[in-house]
Amino acid sequence: MEHYGTSGSVDKNKAMVEYLQQYGIIRSKKVAEVMEAIDRGLFVPGGSPPYVDSPMQIGYNATISAPHMHATCLELLKEHLQPGMHALDVGSGTGYLTACFAMMVGPQGRAVGVEHIPELVTSSIENIKKSAVASLLNEGSLSVHVADGRLGWPDLAPYDAIHVGAAAPEIPQPLIEQLKPGGRMVIPVGTVFQDLKVVDKKLDGSVKIRSETSVRYVPLTSRAAQLHNY
Ligand code: SAH
Repeated sequence: MEHYGTSGSVDKNKAMVEYLQQYGIIRSKKVAEVMEAIDRGLFVPGGSPPYVDSPMQIGYNATISAPHMHATCLELLKEHLQPGMHALDVGSGTGYLTACFAMMVGPQGRAVGVEHIPELVTSSIENIKKSAVASLLNEGSLSVHVADGRLGWPDLAPYDAIHVGAAAPEIPQPLIEQLKPGGRMVIPVGTVFQDLKVVDKKLDGSVKIRSETSVRYVPLTSRAAQLHNY
């Protein structure tokens, strides 16, 4: 009777997506479909309510971003997450957005997560294995790596889409370099006061930066600083 259930995680995830649509945060069918397909409940550690629109602690002084921030970033990046494209998720944490990116770029594309806490990389891979994109992990179009995301992931550059899930004091130059002409990066920038910046690299290689909204993310920093609570 699983498919008739009214209180299952799939239904709750769908209700979360509908709430984000009602409030105009999810505006496209594409983003609604991917957030419906990737059950957020698989990525939030036990004990935290996964479908509440709030960030949640994931250990190691890190958080999974709130659903409305994930939706906002997916809306901003959706044209750069088409089948066959390359996407980089810096500070991939739980792996939730990396999984969404993988679903959007599909088996012909590449979705890469980079996270500097090895335990989070291990648990994110476990989360992804339970999700709708498990097969992409096996096929190799989705991967997650332990590395300092401030250096990007040169092996699969250039990227059509780069998402940074932690706030940088300034935009790391390697990330700008690894953005494809025509590509877009979404990155929170600042320390106490932060702005979500949208960085568009034009076809001539010039870069245009605008601020989308004020945000509050954990810092993009060294592993030592993060583990010592900054
Ligand atoms: N987007 C993820 C996690 C957001 S929290 C999610 O929603 O689940 C930010 C993440 O960035 C944390 O997991 C933190 O460990 C990671 N991080 C911070 N600085 C980093 C760096 N220099 N390199 C790689 N990851 C980093």
